[in-house]
Amino acid sequence: MAINIVLLGPPGAGKGTQAKRLEAAYGMVQLSTGDMLRAAVAAGTPTGLRAKAVMEAGKLVDDEILIAMISERLSQPDASRGAIFDGFPRTVPQAEALDALLAGRGMRLDHVIELKVDDAALVERISGRYSCRKCGAGYHDRFQQPARAGVCDSCGGTDFLRRADDNAETVRKRLSEYYAKTAPILPYYQARGALCGVDGMADMDRVTAALAAILGPRPAGDAR
Ligand code: ADP
Ligand code: ADP
Ligand code: ZN
Repeated sequence: MAINIVLLGPPGAGKGTQAKRLEAAYGMVQLSTGDMLRAAVAAGTPTGLRAKAVMEAGKLVDDEILIAMISERLSQPDASRGAIFDGFPRTVPQAEALDALLAGRGMRLDHVIELKVDDAALVERISGRYSCRKCGAGYHDRFQQPARAGVCDSCGGTDFLRRADDNAETVRKRLSEYYAKTAPILPYYQARGALCGVDGMADMDRVTAALAAILGPRPAGDAR
């Protein structure tokens, strides 16, 4: 049975880090709308052209674009394994659209998990964040260094990148967007008993253990 979960939380909360770990452990696909939008910007698609300046300003891209993007992504065969939504939904209309999209495919959200992290820690996490250009593995100047300096643990790549929007000024705008537009989806999920919170201030392994406790053991016979 496919499990679908949403990881909610402000920029830098650890959504991407944990989504990759859950993808590896449970076999659902990580659907990161931030990664999809950055790919669209890099490829210069019409969506990318519309999104670029909005993302650089730390604002949210239009619901209409995001909903179309997720709808298309859910139509791809691997999404039938279940998804870890990372960075989506970010507004109440997106949350409503996701419910409808999943229902139309005979699925629903099994867990909505909020990673709770203090604002001061977020700024530090985002300022030190970088990733492998080749495989996308995530790192941090202080909190997650590769075993060999300058070499990606996952793929051996030696080329790393930092996001254009990961600077202190844009982070503050992204945080205020989060509190104004994304935090209102917490009561939306809470009202139907789907929401649970995890202490995102704990170290990465403890956060992973807390998520695994919510998801439960990976079903037997579900190996790919
Ligand atoms: P998000 O996807 O929510 O924006 P990331 O997973 O990219 O967040 O994490 C932001 C940065 O903080 C990354 O550099 C990551 O290595 C680091 N990080 C993630 N989780 C933790 C944690 N529990 N403790 C310390 N640093 C963390
Ligand atoms: P973070 O890891 O810091 O939470 P993301 O990589 O998820 O950031 O998103 C980066 C940017 O992409 C956001 O600041 C926003 O401009 C845009 N974006 C990503 N997902 C969404 C969404 N669901 N709705 C609107 N904008 C989005
Ligand atoms: Zn790599």
